[in-house]
Amino acid sequence: MATVLTRPLDRLADFPAIPAGWAYLDTAATAQKPRPVIGAITAAYGETYATVHRGVYARSADMTLAFEASRERVAQFIGAGSAAEIVFVRGATEAINLVAQSWGDTHLKAGDRILLSTLEHHSNIVPWQLLRDRTGIEIDVAPLTADGRIDLDAAEAMLTPAHKLVALAHVSNVLGSLLDVRRAADLAHAVGAKLLVDGCQAVPRLPVDMAGLGCDFYVFSGHKLYGPTGVGVLWARPEILESMPPWQGGGSMIDKVSFEKTTYLPAPARFEAGTPHIVGVLGLHAAIDYVEGIGLDAIHAHETALVRATRAALSAINSVTLFGPEDSAGIVSFAIRGVHPHDIGTILDEAQVAIRAGHHCAQPLMAHLGVDATARASFGVYNSAADVAALVKGIERVTRIFG
Ligand code: PMP
Repeated sequence: MATVLTRPLDRLADFPAIPAGWAYLDTAATAQKPRPVIGAITAAYGETYATVHRGVYARSADMTLAFEASRERVAQFIGAGSAAEIVFVRGATEAINLVAQSWGDTHLKAGDRILLSTLEHHSNIVPWQLLRDRTGIEIDVAPLTADGRIDLDAAEAMLTPAHKLVALAHVSNVLGSLLDVRRAADLAHAVGAKLLVDGCQAVPRLPVDMAGLGCDFYVFSGHKLYGPTGVGVLWARPEILESMPPWQGGGSMIDKVSFEKTTYLPAPARFEAGTPHIVGVLGLHAAIDYVEGIGLDAIHAHETALVRATRAALSAINSVTLFGPEDSAGIVSFAIRGVHPHDIGTILDEAQVAIRAGHHCAQPLMAHLGVDATARASFGVYNSAADVAALVKGIERVTRIFG
């Protein structure tokens, strides 16, 4: 199987929480952390810690510089126009809720429509339903192609001038299917709608560039990018950010406060009420340095090769059904006839193979696939052909146990 991999990355030694012989195949849920990220977090708490944006002492000023340097680093990483376009949030979920509440409540009204797709994660469905409950907007759902991509031809036919927003996943967390963001942006803009892209599964797997993609909002979580939990990013076009009111009030986001009237700071500070996840933001900087040190093109090629090897091996097993397209980015969902995905996960765990089994926070997609759950193997920079071999061997054992 080693021959299938054109460019093995050989990064396992960077990850102290992956013991020898354990195949961690749940990176789509959360990535393991490399030593430079753990080191950055340890140094931030153990050596350089202080608050940001308000201390008058040197330590705090230094921490503020490091914090804002992380914002610059994120902007550069995703090809944003400037650091002022980067809002730090808890994660993709919070970013989408921020847009739904701040932008949605201000710009949308009863009769307006938004377009989602069948494969969205619950975090790109439920905030819009809450917005629908508050405003009376309507939600439409674009279907998928037979191989599990968002059907942009169908989306084009569905879009009308009543649509104000299209919100789609860049890479599906279940199927690994990749969105043509540029085309989605053109379709949305043709009817005057904005495009929000959920980049959670894309940012760790392929190069992304805001200028080239043409979307209006882009969100992702740090923990799927080999960084800490509790930190994520909302990017939006500067003129859109400027049109959005605060969604949470508190310290750090104000210009002047009196009991009669409060004025707010410009973006991004306006959206970052309270003491931020200082150390998380520094950890995210280290994570970006780490993945860029390897190269997103190399990571993409590596994961694509692992997916190809996995799909080729599993398609040779009669009772296995594979979901999603052949060119899936780093993620393989599958079912075994007559075996519940939780049983697959449990038996694989006995063989030191960690996969995810469940609905993957995508119940409408499960309904579309006609299943309650799938088994899902997802790859990261630390995986190798040996992990694919362990997975396939474990699945062969599952099929023997269940006859
Ligand atoms: N969107 C997608 C496609 C995801 O995979 C996830 C995480 N599973 C999310 C959104 C939500 O991310 P978080 O839980 O980090 O906010």
